[in-house]
Amino acid sequence: MKNEKAVVVFSGGQDSTTCLFWALKTFKEVEAVTFNYNQRHKLEIEVAASIAKDLGIKHTVLDMSLLNQLAPNALTRSDIQIKHKEGELPSTFVDGRNLLFLSFAAVLAKQSGARHLVTGVCETDFSGYPDCRDVFIKSLNVTLNLAMDYQFVIHTPLMWLNKAETWKLADELGAFEFVRNRTLTCYNGIIADGCGECPACILRKRGLEQYLAEKERGNA
Ligand code: ZN
Repeated sequence: MKNEKAVVVFSGGQDSTTCLFWALKTFKEVEAVTFNYNQRHKLEIEVAASIAKDLGIKHTVLDMSLLNQLAPNALTRSDIQIKHKEGELPSTFVDGRNLLFLSFAAVLAKQSGARHLVTGVCETDFSGYPDCRDVFIKSLNVTLNLAMDYQFVIHTPLMWLNKAETWKLADELGAFEFVRNRTLTCYNGIIADGCGECPACILRKRGLEQYLAEKERGNA
């Protein structure tokens, strides 16, 4: 795949930034696409743009503000509290978000002559979004190919990794410090290690500590 081109669905967070580094190692040419859906933190778009700029990657921001109109939720409306109960979808859930994002990314990819799409979706993730599951991605891949008569390949390098393994992958790609210091995962809009208290920070921190402990023991 070294002589081919890929488009990475990129939010500026830990997962998609790790995917970006994976894509840079895997493909000859890489572009990034970020979706603007009136996220609670506009900073997310700025972080994504600044990472793409520093890595010398073409970056497209697509306006998806209709998502806010369709599915008001905790990420887009400041009056809804972010909460998460075990076994339930968190209040940050937007129905069909990945379906929409990947479909738009595919249109963009075809226009720019790329047939590879890279997304950081993960089935191991506790959240349980149905459109992050492997079976959905495979199904969408077939659908996109039929819809546009084009041989897309959707890559999901994180699909079966837990958070600790995602940190390990970033480290193997030589991007551990970059991912740790430059990405934004925190729901409260704090870069790098974040606020430490929101669900996203807790998940990220738990994975980081687990990875560092394993590395310390020489198992990683
Ligand atoms: Zn946080």
